[in-house]
Amino acid sequence: MFFAIQDLEIRKIHFDVVFQPGEIDLADPDLKQVSPLNARGVAELLNNTLGEIRLQGHLQTSLESICDRCLEPAGFSFDCDFDLYFRPVTTSPTVEDLELEQGETEISFYEGDGVQLEEALREHILLLLPMQKVCREDCKGICPICAGNRNYTSCNCRLQALDDRWAALRNL
Ligand SMILES: [Zn+2]
Ligand SMILES: [Zn+2]
Repeated sequence: MFFAIQDLEIRKIHFDVVFQPGEIDLADPDLKQVSPLNARGVAELLNNTLGEIRLQGHLQTSLESICDRCLEPAGFSFDCDFDLYFRPVTTSPTVEDLELEQGETEISFYEGDGVQLEEALREHILLLLPMQKVCREDCKGICPICAGNRNYTSCNCRLQALDDRWAALRNL
């Protein structure tokens, strides 16, 4: 869905769309959309700006990635409001301007004559994902010695390494 400046100049555009898994390219082979992405809201051209577009609304979806610690699937569900601002590339402010103005809102830039909803959502979703993607808060990860998943099996690798050292000492 494309929001063209010419259309936004006339009126706000309301949207209520569903993207099935695969319709939005998440640009990460480890990241999968596992439920329909529902996005509804309104696109508007802000007055007294040089073509700033605001997308405001609510989104709902679930994604699946790979746990950073144990490599098992890690799920992420989103059901949240968004409020995104897009400025035309030609009026890109300096970094300092951005830092001053950004605050709570998210500012991106667009090229050409409008904003593509799919791209805006992709960018936003990637920001919503935590830096460290884990299957659960207390995931114990993989044992570096035996490669066993510590969530399922409790190996005694460290203990054994220690025992071996004592054994080596005893042999002296
Ligand atoms: Zn994990
Ligand atoms: Zn182990």
